[in-house]
Amino acid sequence: MKEGVKRTFAELGLGKELLAGLTALGYEEPTPIQTAAIVPLLEGRDLLGQAATGTGKTAAFALPLLQRIGKTKAVANKPFALVLVPTRELAVQVSDAFHTYSKGTGVSVLPIYGGQEFRRQIIGLDRGTHIVVATPGRALDHLRRETLDLSALKSVVLDEADEMLDMGFAEDLELILNATPKSRQTALFSATLPPRIASIAERHLKDPARILIPRDKGTRGTIPKVRQTAYLISRAQKIAALGRVLDLESPTLALIFCRTRLEVDELADRLAGRGYRVEALHGGMSQQERDRVMKKARGAMVDLVVATDVAARGIDIDHLTHVVNFNVPMSPESYVHRIGRTGRAGREGVAITLADPREHRLLRNIEHLTKQKIEIATVPTPMDVKARRLDVTKAAVREKLLAGGSDGFRVVVETLAAEFDPMDIAAAAVRLVHEASEGEGSNEDDMHIPTFEKGAHRQSAPEQPRRGQWNRGPDPRDLVRIYIAGGSRMGIRPADLVGAIANEANVNPRGIGDIEIAESFSIVELPSADVDQVIKALRSATIRGRKVKVHLDRGIRK
Ligand code: AMP
Repeated sequence: MKEGVKRTFAELGLGKELLAGLTALGYEEPTPIQTAAIVPLLEGRDLLGQAATGTGKTAAFALPLLQRIGKTKAVANKPFALVLVPTRELAVQVSDAFHTYSKGTGVSVLPIYGGQEFRRQIIGLDRGTHIVVATPGRALDHLRRETLDLSALKSVVLDEADEMLDMGFAEDLELILNATPKSRQTALFSATLPPRIASIAERHLKDPARILIPRDKGTRGTIPKVRQTAYLISRAQKIAALGRVLDLESPTLALIFCRTRLEVDELADRLAGRGYRVEALHGGMSQQERDRVMKKARGAMVDLVVATDVAARGIDIDHLTHVVNFNVPMSPESYVHRIGRTGRAGREGVAITLADPREHRLLRNIEHLTKQKIEIATVPTPMDVKARRLDVTKAAVREKLLAGGSDGFRVVVETLAAEFDPMDIAAAAVRLVHEASEGEGSNEDDMHIPTFEKGAHRQSAPEQPRRGQWNRGPDPRDLVRIYIAGGSRMGIRPADLVGAIANEANVNPRGIGDIEIAESFSIVELPSADVDQVIKALRSATIRGRKVKVHLDRGIRK
C-alpha cells in the first residue's frame, strides 16, 4: 500500500451524501487501504486486500457497497450484500459502521450472529434489508431454514478471512459462497495471506485487484533515536490511560495524533481538564488559527498539541520530546513519518502508542518495517504516578538545597523547632511544595484501568467477543459497552448509573463491568444478555433528573 498519491474521498468517486457523512464524522482523508480499494470496488471489480483491523478497511468496503446499492429498494429475505465476519463482536461493530456511514442514504443493514434469538433476526430479514453482516455459522443456519436467500446478492465481503479459517469456518464459507450467484462481486480482506487464503481467492475471486503490504521495504536507519512503547488498552479507557502516561512521562512538548477532527477536539478538552496546556490542530481550522497554535508551540507556551495527520504535516519543532499515537496509525509508513518528528538533533525522543488489543497486528507490521522493537508496557497505576510526582518534588527541593540562599527562612524553622521535631517540619514544608505543584485534575484518576496482557488478544473463540484478560484475573463473561450521553458535567457519578441499571432495568448490578465517566458521556460494560433490557429501560428513565440518549458504544463520540 503506497501512500504516495494522496487523494480525497471525492476524488475516489464517492457521492455527495456519503461525503457529507464523512465530513460530519471528522474524517480528513482516506487511509491507504481506502485510497487503493474504493475505486476498484466502485467499478464492481473483485478485490484481494491484505489489511488488518485499524487500517480503515471497514470503510474501504462499506462506502463502495453503500454507493453501489444507492436507491435500490430492499427485498424481503434477499439482501444485496453479505459481509461475513468471524465473531459476533465484529458483526455488531461492522454493522454499526455501516449504520454510521449510511446516514441519509436510506440503505439498511442487519447483523446476524450466533447467540442472538432467531426470531429477531427473522423479523429483520423478512422486513427486507439491503446488507446483512453475519458470522458464517449463523448465516448458514438461516440459509438452511430458508429465511435467508442469497440469489439476489450483488456483493460478498469476506472480512478477516484468515481469522474465519482459524476458527474452522472454511467449510461454511464454501457452502455459503456456493449459494450465491456467479455474477457477484467478491472482496476478501485478510491480515495475512497464507496458502489457504490464496486458494480461496484462486477459486472464488475473478481477476481481483490486489492490495498487498510490501515486504521488507528498507526504511532502516531513517528512524532517529526514539524510545518506542505501546500500551494495549481498550477504547473506553484510553483517555484515562493517556492521562496517566503523560503524568508519568511529563513531556516538555508532546504531539498527540488522533484519527478524526472529533477525536482531536474531545481529547484536547479532556486533557485540558487534567491541567495541561493543550491546543488542538485539525483541518477544520483556518490557517490563521493554525499559525497561532504553532507559534504558541514554538514559544513553549503549550504542553500538548493534539492533531490529525493532515494538520500536523510539516510540523517541525526542536523541543518536541514526545510523539503520541492515540490510535495505531493506519499504515506503518505513517508511523515512521510521525515519530520522525521527535528525537531531533541527536536527542532521545519518545514515541508512545495506545493500541486497541485488536490492533496488535498493526504493531507487528510496524516492527517488521522498521526492524525495531516496540516495547509493550503496562499503564502506570495511580501509585506510579504519585511516586513520580514525589520524585519531581524531591528533585526540586534538592536543587534549592544545592543552590543555597535559603538562610532567610531558617528563622521560621528555628521558631517551629521549639515546638516540633525538625524532621516533621521539613516533611510539612515538602508537602506544601508538593501540593502546590500538583495542579488540578489528578483526582479524576482513582479509576481502575484494565490493561491487556501481552498475547491475550490471541485468545478468541468462534462467535465470542474477544476479550483480553484483565489485570484482576480472567473474566470469561461476555461484556458489551453501552454509551450514555451524559457525564460528569451533568453531575453523573458511578452510583447514579449503577442505581439506574439496578432499579430501572431490574438487572443485577453485580454483573456490571467497568464504568467510565467522561465530561459529556459515560461508558458502562454490561453482560451482553442484559444489554437490550438496560438500553430500553434507561431510554425511558431519567438520570440525575434528565433524559439522556443511550445506545451501544460505537466508539464514535459526538
Ligand atoms: P477499521 O480498520 O475498519 O477497524 O477502522 C479503524 C478506525 O478508523 C475506525 O474507528 C474508523 O472509524 C476509523 N477510520 C476509518 N477511516 C478513517 C479515515 N479515513 N479517517 C479517520 N478515521 C478513519
